[in-house]
Amino acid sequence: MEKQRHFETRAVHSGEHRSSPEEGRDGTFYPISTPIYASTTFSHPDIETTDRVLGGEEQGYSYARYDNPTVRAFEEALVSLEVPEADAGVRAFAFASGMAATHAALAAAELTNGANVLAAEQLYGSTATLLVQVFGANGVETRFVDAYDLGAVEKKVAELKPRAVVVESISNPLLRVADIPEISKITRAAGAALIVDNTFGTPYLQRPLELGADIVVHSATKYLSGHGDLTAGVVAAGPPYADAVEQLRKLIGGVLGPFEAWLAHRGLKTLPLRMGRQCDNARAIADSLATHPKVAQVNHPSLKAHPDYETAGRVLSDTGGLVSFELAAGGREAAFAFLNSLRLCVKAPSLGDVYTLAIHPATSSHRELSPARRKRLGVGENLVRLSVGIEHPQDILSDLGQALERS
Ligand code: PLP
Repeated sequence: MEKQRHFETRAVHSGEHRSSPEEGRDGTFYPISTPIYASTTFSHPDIETTDRVLGGEEQGYSYARYDNPTVRAFEEALVSLEVPEADAGVRAFAFASGMAATHAALAAAELTNGANVLAAEQLYGSTATLLVQVFGANGVETRFVDAYDLGAVEKKVAELKPRAVVVESISNPLLRVADIPEISKITRAAGAALIVDNTFGTPYLQRPLELGADIVVHSATKYLSGHGDLTAGVVAAGPPYADAVEQLRKLIGGVLGPFEAWLAHRGLKTLPLRMGRQCDNARAIADSLATHPKVAQVNHPSLKAHPDYETAGRVLSDTGGLVSFELAAGGREAAFAFLNSLRLCVKAPSLGDVYTLAIHPATSSHRELSPARRKRLGVGENLVRLSVGIEHPQDILSDLGQALERS
């Protein structure tokens, strides 16, 4: 029933109002916000119940590394946003960071000794390093492909027969948009698991499980929580991956704490409001920068000149809150002068916050890459990335305008 309600309604209500009534000397009352259960263990009326809960025969809570009511409330809310229609067995698992979630998703896809994995060459750097260093040390071979070239993906999948394919719904920092429905046809036919990092998209823009993906990962540090005040990650998947993720989380132990889960759940309630405003602001900024004489090139899927303009119209419900652009002046000096001149926009890595954040990808997210590889990926010294916030668009535009004059 609840799942048929609109996205905005589910964002506000899902996972909540689940607590048992509190009974005590103040009478019976129901907390409208799931409390922060700061309890490492949970007792039951009798030890037989504890036995059944620990054995998985009865729903309940036993030990906080396995499950916690505050964390579960956040996870249920996320499931209701990822799969609005009643779906067989999709579950979400919250982790202490996006990287812990990514590790669990990769391990759940059985990336074990002798397996191949095909990864987008545009992947977040730490995800690529995790694959090469950690999974590589355990005998997994990672090969890279331009995930935004369907022909190349099809060819590499046929050649390598990978156990998993890993892509991001929207890439950093050029905001390429993956054709998840088409990629999933390729992975399904080849029997490979499709893992989508939907951090930049969020379920507001795209729900990859509905488009054929097998496992979805988020850094909830970003848009899902939205306020730049916590670190968290989530994996959402159906069978058989959900059970594997749950088991891995129990054993490796990278669980999200109840306080962060409560904060993340509170942030999730305003995801549609924030993302709607961020998409509108980003579009206005992209349009304005596109005609600015000090800007050479703007990357945003709302612009007709963007290589994935058509794909974005098919696979995303809106065009996202990130914009990147190249300064006409060229070079690191111009980019640094621009960033140092900002007065409202915050110079900091990360993204998805209510504040507009600005960063120089060549010296932050893509710092570890060689200059040649950065060049190949289109990450020049004159490139700036904006994670557009929810401020009034005119205030953001006037700050960008005055900083461009100084660049
Ligand atoms: N995936 C993407 C696309 C990211 O941008 C990031 C972090 O920037 C991560 C995963 C890792 O998330 P976290 O920093 O929460 O571990």
